[in-house]
Amino acid sequence: MSWQRQIKVKSPAEIKVMREAGHINATVLAAVKELLQPGVTTADLNAAAEEVLKSHGCVSPFKDYGHPPYPASITVCINDEMVHGIPHPKRKLKEGDIVSIDCGTIHNGFVADSAFTAGVGEISSQAAKLLEVTEGALYAGIDKMRKGNRTGDVSAAIQKYVEDNGLHVTREYTGHGVGRKMHEGPQVPNVGIAGTGFQLRPGLTIALEPMVLVGTHETRVLPDQWTVVSADGSLTAHFEHTVAVTEGEPLILTVL
Ligand code: MG
Ligand code: MG
Repeated sequence: MSWQRQIKVKSPAEIKVMREAGHINATVLAAVKELLQPGVTTADLNAAAEEVLKSHGCVSPFKDYGHPPYPASITVCINDEMVHGIPHPKRKLKEGDIVSIDCGTIHNGFVADSAFTAGVGEISSQAAKLLEVTEGALYAGIDKMRKGNRTGDVSAAIQKYVEDNGLHVTREYTGHGVGRKMHEGPQVPNVGIAGTGFQLRPGLTIALEPMVLVGTHETRVLPDQWTVVSADGSLTAHFEHTVAVTEGEPLILTVL
């Protein structure tokens, strides 16, 4: 059975553990964000993340994930790199770059998954708008994470928010259920049709993650078999939170 079909409703006790995982994950991301300055290498960022994870007795589900096995605990993407960028000791941040950091945390058997994009020093107005729109799209999606809504309501809200702002959203890379595994069902694409898809119910925990591009929705994968970049070299951004559906308001798990 593919991961998209494995949909697990969590108990309140399990969601409490996921909230702890989410808190630790947010602590990791906050520590990495502090380091975003010209001259810092992407391997430095990974090392800092691993130190914080270790201090909490946690590891990242990214390490050794997939084929070929992913070699780090976070992904770091600069400018046209959208997701899955591999940290490297020779890759340095520069003034004006935008950098996406994605991290996962495994804590007491549950996974939290979250990402942000931020600028290094002064960034262009185009880059600033991209970050604002991508984060806004994430919150537009989160606002639809309500009992009785469908995954297509979430997808459509993300797509509309991005496209109304004149930008492009990825087709191939999606949000996903998350729990004991990093990827569970339901799959939540970043484009879709309201009123369609899987119906949301309390206890579902989903990582929403709009990936937005300035010039095109098309992407390609670099020869390292991981790094995904915009097909036209234009800037991209990525924001992600793990969110629980409740009886009431959506509950964001990956915050401090
Ligand atoms: Mg992620
Ligand atoms: Mg994810």
